[in-house]
Amino acid sequence: TKADEEIQKIISKKRLKSVEDRRVGSEIFDEQTLKTLYKLANHGYLTVLNGAISTGKEANVLKGIHEDDSRVDSFVAVKIYRIATSDFKKMQYYIQGDPRFNVKSNNKRQLITSWVNKEYRNLLRAHEVDVNVPKPIIAMNNVLLLEFIGDDLGNPAQTVKNQPPIDVDEFLNKLLIEMNKFINEANLVHGDLSTFNILNKDEKPVIIDVSQSVVRDHPIANDLLIRDINTIFKEFKKMGASADLEEIKAALNLD
Ligand code: ADP
Repeated sequence: TKADEEIQKIISKKRLKSVEDRRVGSEIFDEQTLKTLYKLANHGYLTVLNGAISTGKEANVLKGIHEDDSRVDSFVAVKIYRIATSDFKKMQYYIQGDPRFNVKSNNKRQLITSWVNKEYRNLLRAHEVDVNVPKPIIAMNNVLLLEFIGDDLGNPAQTVKNQPPIDVDEFLNKLLIEMNKFINEANLVHGDLSTFNILNKDEKPVIIDVSQSVVRDHPIANDLLIRDINTIFKEFKKMGASADLEEIKAALNLD
């Protein structure tokens, strides 16, 4: 929103330490979130936090700046899950049955921490087999730091929904290559794949929002996979893609 752009309230390391300010950008965060942000700043992961990139139902994504040892600035994406508005039922549903997590507790903060960790690990797993995803930097409590996807000036890449590809068939082909690696090499199913969760970075797809992604032997993995494929087929068809469903499935090497 306009307010978000205008406020651009910059919280430097010093400010983060000294001011008891509950605002980050135009958002108000709780005590634990601020403490986590201070900690990330103090550990050198984050120097400045400014403008909101997105305010979703459960998470805010902000743009941060990280200054490396040689004082070179780079942008980072800071995804902050809001504890008050998190969908714990959904989190529990997806975490149950994932052999990597053993969350028995009903503690909401713990559940969010596991959820953020899950997103971090899913991203890492995809990144390691070279899927085009934002490289994860660190997960701490309800905050996830990610590689910023955008241009050198700090403009974030748009979603495919907002910025449809110029050549839809070519873009879909590139996406299918990424999905193939995601499914068959990272052994993950995205679970919420759509043009909202694919960024168009210079006409190349970057897959985001993998918090709900599950391992392929998860009991719900196959249903999610079928849903993802159908969604991609429908949405790309609408944008004018020529591939049919069978061709898409064939490109994904599914038996
Ligand atoms: P949510 O679960 O709230 O939808 P997403 O992970 O989908 O969170 O991110 C919401 C939005 O934030 C995206 O649509 C995109 O515009 C922006 N965004 C997310 N991750 C990044 C990133 N690494 N770099 C740049 N922008 C991002």
